[in-house]
Amino acid sequence: MAEKRDYYEVLGVDRGADAETLKKAYRQLAKKYHPDMNPGDAAAAEKFKEASEAYAILSDPEKRSQYDQFGQAAFEGGAGGFSGGGFDFNGADFSDIFGDIFGDFFGGGRRSSSPNGPMQGANVRARVSISFDEAVTGCTKNLDLTLKDECTNCHGTGAKPGTSPKICPKCRGTGSVVFRQQSLFGMVQSQQPCPDCQGRGKIIESRCPNCGGSGYTASRKTIEVTIPAGIDDGQSIRIREKGEPGLNGGPRGDLLVEVRVASNPNFIRQDMDIFSNVEISFAQAALGGDLRVKTVDGEVIYTVRPGTQSGTRVRLKGKGMPSVRSSSVRGDHYVTLLVRTPVKLSPEAKEALKHFDYLSGNSLDQAEDPFGDESSEKHKKKKKGFMNKIKEAFDEE
Ligand SMILES: [Zn+2]
Ligand SMILES: [Zn+2]
Repeated sequence: MAEKRDYYEVLGVDRGADAETLKKAYRQLAKKYHPDMNPGDAAAAEKFKEASEAYAILSDPEKRSQYDQFGQAAFEGGAGGFSGGGFDFNGADFSDIFGDIFGDFFGGGRRSSSPNGPMQGANVRARVSISFDEAVTGCTKNLDLTLKDECTNCHGTGAKPGTSPKICPKCRGTGSVVFRQQSLFGMVQSQQPCPDCQGRGKIIESRCPNCGGSGYTASRKTIEVTIPAGIDDGQSIRIREKGEPGLNGGPRGDLLVEVRVASNPNFIRQDMDIFSNVEISFAQAALGGDLRVKTVDGEVIYTVRPGTQSGTRVRLKGKGMPSVRSSSVRGDHYVTLLVRTPVKLSPEAKEALKHFDYLSGNSLDQAEDPFGDESSEKHKKKKKGFMNKIKEAFDEE
């Protein structure tokens, strides 16, 4: 057993940290190293275990004060229920912490408290990509996965048919052995998994040829995943008991499917709301009128009010994304109306625009001297030059 790291150091908090700080620190580590997030990564599993153990001790005021006084020695040899090798996750309540790692899709863990009792199999993680439209309506996808099953040849025992696993002589089938140790609290006994049978209680002498003694076979399977309407990029769906097979008759683990939602060129999603920009002409903005607006339900007609300014945001109520919990609950769609300045004008349109400008306050004439003689030659020249400049501006691409 390697020297254990200081629990405070493991959680990265100082010795005076309050309960909230401990919880926060642990939650971050647990998210990072949780076995569901790091399938097959032994180093992460070890870190997760280490952090969980540190949190189990430090979050219990009594155990924490023992630890502060005696350090690791307070829990060695089973005195505090935490024997050297076997940290038991069921000893502490982590449900409120794991509950929000996967949000609503994360159910409670179902781990067995006895080493030989039924154990749920490991969770399997997979990923599926869907389009933006599929996220709006919900969809079903088929996932091809390699999944383990109990070997039909040996029915999971791992022993060659006709033979059966032998009871482990070292632990007499219990799967654990008792160690006696001297500690601060006197001679104490602790239970550890049996080293000969790795805690299984049985030893296989002739391995099953079909599964090589593992008790499992792997095969490709197609699993249908129902994706609810309103799912957001990065959310996961839990499919119960489609993970790895359980141990000792325990249930299968779960399949956690992460959904990646493609982006859409027309819409930006934020939670249940959708945002988009729509260009309107200057005439539409000034006079008002009906406008076709793309929504996730198709085009709708929105009536622009006369005198609409560029940048005005309007709300299309209930045209956003559905809630994953209830598809009858919808977010809103916010449309920003952008007034488009005309860039290519026919000579007639230019004339009309100049006439319009004349009628609406002569904004094109601001360079002229307001106290000058309007009929003077000088003024006419100046005005002509100014209009030419405007003409050039219109002719630019
Ligand atoms: Zn087999
Ligand atoms: Zn044994």
